[in-house]
Amino acid sequence: MRLSRYFMPVLRETPKEAEIVSHQLMLRTGMVKQASAGIYSWLPLGYKVLMKIDRIVREEQNRAGAIEVLMPTIQSADLWRQSGRYEAYGKEMLRIADRHDREMLYGPTNEELITAIFRDGIKSYKDLPRNLYHIQWKFRDEVRPRFGVMRGREFLMKDAYSFDLTPEAGRLSYNRMFTAYLRTFARMGLKAVPMAADSGPIGGDMSHEFIILADTGESQVFCHKDLIEGAVPPIDTDYDGDLSPIIQRWTSLYAATDEKHDAAKFDEQVPKDKQVSARGIEVGHIFFFGTKYSEPMGCKVQGPDGQKIVVQMGSYGVGVSRLAGAIIEACHDAAGIVWPVPVAPFEVGLINLKAGDKDTDAAANDLYAKLEAAGIDVLLDDTDERAGGKFATMDLIGLPYQLIVGPKGVKAGEAEIKVRKGGARETLPMDAALAKVVAAVKAKRMLA
Ligand code: ATP
Ligand code: MG
Repeated sequence: MRLSRYFMPVLRETPKEAEIVSHQLMLRTGMVKQASAGIYSWLPLGYKVLMKIDRIVREEQNRAGAIEVLMPTIQSADLWRQSGRYEAYGKEMLRIADRHDREMLYGPTNEELITAIFRDGIKSYKDLPRNLYHIQWKFRDEVRPRFGVMRGREFLMKDAYSFDLTPEAGRLSYNRMFTAYLRTFARMGLKAVPMAADSGPIGGDMSHEFIILADTGESQVFCHKDLIEGAVPPIDTDYDGDLSPIIQRWTSLYAATDEKHDAAKFDEQVPKDKQVSARGIEVGHIFFFGTKYSEPMGCKVQGPDGQKIVVQMGSYGVGVSRLAGAIIEACHDAAGIVWPVPVAPFEVGLINLKAGDKDTDAAANDLYAKLEAAGIDVLLDDTDERAGGKFATMDLIGLPYQLIVGPKGVKAGEAEIKVRKGGARETLPMDAALAKVVAAVKAKRMLA
């Protein structure tokens, strides 16, 4: 992409309405624009990030055996009456009447709809286990939408739903999603720690929130330091193998959100110098709830002996749009965003320091063509802004690698590489610089 033809409305000043750094940076870099409270348009730069997050989430869901569907945003109130949640959900639900005065709603989540779909589509225990997911916009009329896309009213969520014959089989499905989440967040360059979470009114211990630590997080969390400093799980997980060692490793150390926190246990299980009490951002929530929806909605299968068996279910959410903000909270410095390669809007920012100068243009265009040919997602700054402004913008938008070409370098046949994270610089012959950047990007595409 050439910046001269792109749409990237960068702001020089920090917008006053933004309280936290990720929100400030998303507005400043022109990633999003507020349409109304808690509702955002995703502008080109932001949309690219959102789609990269979306893709990682999808790849990892598919890898774990979940099957993608797409359910509508608008649902019928009657469906929600079947589970008894229509009245219970309260003011967070946006209720709508159509022209025939039929009661509709903008889905805040999809347990009811997926349960009805699955119920009507299966017959026998042989149709189990299954896991269906979609990535779709949700609406929750939050009391206090804030922090930009982190707590929006309209937001993009991945929600998966597992269906099993027995609670034991349900636990295996839960473990697959648990593992898929570890992989998903690791690939985005995040250290998301699974923490025991409140499982709501139906009880049970099968609920984890995946939390990344940040001072601006809305949750108070407590955990063992090793979970944060320890290595992330291997990226080559074999889902046909035994996942219990992975689950065991992550759940044997204390980690809980405030609703589940037990101060006495924390002191007993975690040495003082390993105790972490911090703020965190919830980026995912997984939950096994058995027959909570399948029972009232009659989601049953015929068992091996002909008897009807109520299906065991779990649900698994990822805050896809929240992640765009959460990643920035975790990856920024004083100059701006520092994107991890897998979610960066562009992988390389190519700076032409003197657009309009024949030789510099030729060199920049040549590098641009070669980067594109190598399959690199590149943004070429070919505008006539002055050098200082170009550097500042490139740092602000946080592309992982910068390749800088100016008249002096071109004369010497050289280009400069700047690594955004840490700021290391190196001047190399043109082709060597190109090869180095291409190799660096490719090596970092799959974070382990
Ligand atoms: P929270 O406690 O933050 O309100 P929740 O428990 O209501 O979250 P879930 O219903 O489990 O959230 O939704 C799954 C995921 O969707 C959450 O883990 C979070 O990442 C994301 N999410 C929930 N509410 C919002 C929101 N208002 N804006 C953006 N993302 C959200
Ligand atoms: Mg909520």
